[in-house]
Amino acid sequence: MVELTTPVQYVKGVGPKLAEILATKQIATVGDLLHYLPFRYEDRLNPRGIAELRAGEMATVIGEVRNSGLFRTRRMPIFQLTVGQGRSRLKCLWFNATYLQDKFKPGQLIALYGKVEQDSRSGELQIMQPQFEMLGDSGADGADDKAAASLEVGRIVPIYESAEQGRVTARWFRRIIRTALDDLTPELAETIPAAVRERLALVSPREALWKVHWPEAGESFEDLQSSRTPAHIRLIFEELFFIELGLELKRRQQKAQTGIAFRLDDRVRQAIKKILPFHPTAAQKRVLKEIADDMQKPHPMRRLLQGDVGSGKTIIGFQAAIIAIENGYQVALMAPTEILAQQHYFSARRILENAGYRIVLLTGSLEADRKREIRRHIAQGNAQLVIGTHALLEEKVEFAKPGLVIVDEQHRFGVLQRLKLMKKSGDAGGNKGAALTESEAEAAKTSLAEPDVLVMTATPIPRTLALTLHGDLDLSVLDELPPGRTPIVTRRITDDRSPEVWDFVRKQVAKGHQVYVVYPVIAENEETELKAAIKMYRELSGKIFADLKVGLLHGRLDSELKDQVMRMFQKGELQILVATTVIEVGVDVPNATVMVIEHAERFGLAQLHQLRGRIGRGAAKSYCILMTGGKVTEEGERRLDAMVRTNDGFQIAELDLELRGPGEFFGTRQAGMPSFRVASLIRDRQLLELAKREAAAVMAGPNAEVTQVEISRALVALRTRWQHTYGLVEVG
Ligand code: ADP
Ligand code: MG
Repeated sequence: MVELTTPVQYVKGVGPKLAEILATKQIATVGDLLHYLPFRYEDRLNPRGIAELRAGEMATVIGEVRNSGLFRTRRMPIFQLTVGQGRSRLKCLWFNATYLQDKFKPGQLIALYGKVEQDSRSGELQIMQPQFEMLGDSGADGADDKAAASLEVGRIVPIYESAEQGRVTARWFRRIIRTALDDLTPELAETIPAAVRERLALVSPREALWKVHWPEAGESFEDLQSSRTPAHIRLIFEELFFIELGLELKRRQQKAQTGIAFRLDDRVRQAIKKILPFHPTAAQKRVLKEIADDMQKPHPMRRLLQGDVGSGKTIIGFQAAIIAIENGYQVALMAPTEILAQQHYFSARRILENAGYRIVLLTGSLEADRKREIRRHIAQGNAQLVIGTHALLEEKVEFAKPGLVIVDEQHRFGVLQRLKLMKKSGDAGGNKGAALTESEAEAAKTSLAEPDVLVMTATPIPRTLALTLHGDLDLSVLDELPPGRTPIVTRRITDDRSPEVWDFVRKQVAKGHQVYVVYPVIAENEETELKAAIKMYRELSGKIFADLKVGLLHGRLDSELKDQVMRMFQKGELQILVATTVIEVGVDVPNATVMVIEHAERFGLAQLHQLRGRIGRGAAKSYCILMTGGKVTEEGERRLDAMVRTNDGFQIAELDLELRGPGEFFGTRQAGMPSFRVASLIRDRQLLELAKREAAAVMAGPNAEVTQVEISRALVALRTRWQHTYGLVEVG
């Protein structure tokens, strides 16, 4: 008898050696093994007769090997196999498949799966490069012939991805998983509350595990292939349910903490209004209200503000900052890069300093003395708004009275979880045991209060995903651009036509506009690419635009120089800025109307969209020119095509998610995003939303629907499930 938690090596036929190989597939326990689902199924209950095959269809054929052989064409060796059913015959071909030589013996039974095609010359049907499996042959692994055969024909058969470059076969998985199922303890605890199970008509865990591997004859083939059988749905829902339950729990824990109830009276309202350099859009007003409502509550705000590039997030951040400052608290504004921190500092000074607020900039490149002095200002409470980079504020900056943390342009997930919010000066002292006076008690409470957190992101996470994944954040969306923007025109062009591009750039400059020219510098070949960017800068500044003012900006410049270049560009003293992706996020120069991106095929979609977001920020018409050099992959084509087709960040995000898959889209596991065993973020979005809703309903209990016992059971399951795997939730 095995349990779901039994190490996989104790499954009959596995052992320590194979267990090691399974470990590379994240299979450590019987439970992991049973969640290693078939990636497709073959209908070997009703295999096709060769005579009835049609060109173009995917088919499973079971037949007898008649003959096989390797023949060489001028280009490559081709392996040919003929199988038969009675008098019918079918030809199969594999290219370059010398390894298949001597593999087949006449008379053997074989199952083939692949696309049926018509040979252009003979008109006969054939299958190119089919997947195949020998049947009824125990092979080297010594299985009982009959038992093996009964798993492989006359039924719907699960096909698994093989491991170790095919040395651990689909067939082996089939047998081992079957053994594990046969030996599995009959008592599998049900951890999803009954009301949820009934509402969604979920089958039992045991039934789900059996049927997902061994579907019954009547099961819909379409549902199987699209992972929509009741068995699939049970397993997928369960996985998502426990993620959402963890997030819901976390959100509740956060909400239960003591926060700061900021006051929003007329004086504060006036202060917020006074700084506005323009009329806010309706979306900006709505979002500010959502934030202000949160800030007034006695619990910490944890809010994600999502708005496409250029939607005007900065001013909202400043307004929230004023609420905190007017209440006597300090605010930290963190940006991902120094350039962006600098820029925020300049606009903060422009917008806020006239109103009398005290603002400091704290970046890594400041001199040690200066840094120390600024830290002292912060610790003493003189500085009201502290602007810096993420890294810096994650360190040990002490605030006298922290009230609000704003994290700008946050791409990565899970940072909030890891972010140790600012330390408060005097925290360490604590209560020495003496009775507290009332005002001391009040003060102690204040210092325990968690600051509010506002995360601003331009990464347009598809809304449904944002809502469901960030169970621990509330979401505000800025879905309107400030007025007067004309849509950016995006064009693709191959780089042999660069003279035309430079001509166009020259004309725009003549109209008084500014231009970015961006080169890729991607970590892998940073050195050579950086050289290319610098070389192009020489070419552009020395020859092509010798009469214009051209600047260069890249990550390796020392920060004073970076700063100087950026400031010159902002003031219009440079007409053309040659840059790497350091300008990707946040940079705001409304007079820049052209963005030329060289080797655009090398950039990711989200990155291209961010870069393009640097233009189209003023009233003048803006142009994004995507230059390609060399061969563009099919995926590259789709990225460029999407850029030309749409300016809508949400549409772009959807496609990006599809192209890259959730893992990369969200920036790997370490960023706090779980990877899934059976669920797929793209395929299973609806189930994800359902899971979120159900998890919230369960945590709202106990009530008529869910008992305390059920909730406890679910929470215990949650702990064993996720704590070790993801460190995602801490369950008390
Ligand atoms: P992002 O959301 O990308 O951070 P910013 O906050 O940098 O966008 O705003 C983009 C530009 O739009 C800035 O130049 C800003 O001053 C301007 N802007 C923001 N809101 C408005 C508005 N309501 N009316 C006019 N201009 C605005
Ligand atoms: Mg911004």
